[in-house]
Amino acid sequence: MDVTQTVRIAGTVDDSIVDGPGIRLAIFTQGCSRNCPGCHNPQSHDFSAGSEVSVEELWQRIAANPLLSGITFSGGEPFEQAASLIALAERVHTAGLSVWAYSGYRYEELVDGIPSASAARLLELCDVLVDGAYLQEFRSLELKWRGSTNQRVIDVAASQTAGSVVELAL
Ligand code: SF4
Repeated sequence: MDVTQTVRIAGTVDDSIVDGPGIRLAIFTQGCSRNCPGCHNPQSHDFSAGSEVSVEELWQRIAANPLLSGITFSGGEPFEQAASLIALAERVHTAGLSVWAYSGYRYEELVDGIPSASAARLLELCDVLVDGAYLQEFRSLELKWRGSTNQRVIDVAASQTAGSVVELAL
């Protein structure tokens, strides 16, 4: 793990029970360049806002919490800081914990290396990707792990084996 790397974050939630199964450290990255129409979270766009935290500091928080099932990247847009998050995701997997990620990018874009080759690598390190922006017009309170019906909860390993999206059985 490259402990010199840093991530710009809007904040974290130590014991989240709403960002994937079990108890998770939710990491909300700061910065998003996608400019989706009607974005519900415009304060997350500025890459100079929030605060800088080292990958090592995040790892130490994970290691200090024996209750965690895993971590969840959310945003902002985590895949626009993929190079730094790769280092953390690798360490988390080595520790036997799971990695979930929420992204405004679609699975197919990330596989194609959009917005970067690092994004495709980070995707490979995710157990589950919830893809697509949350859209108010498709909002539903009936959904598990997602807020709007356009989003998909994707089993990444099964999708990579199949060569197309396999949604998680919920
Ligand atoms: S990806 Fe999410 S945070 Fe970024 S502009 Fe779209 S809705 Fe907003």
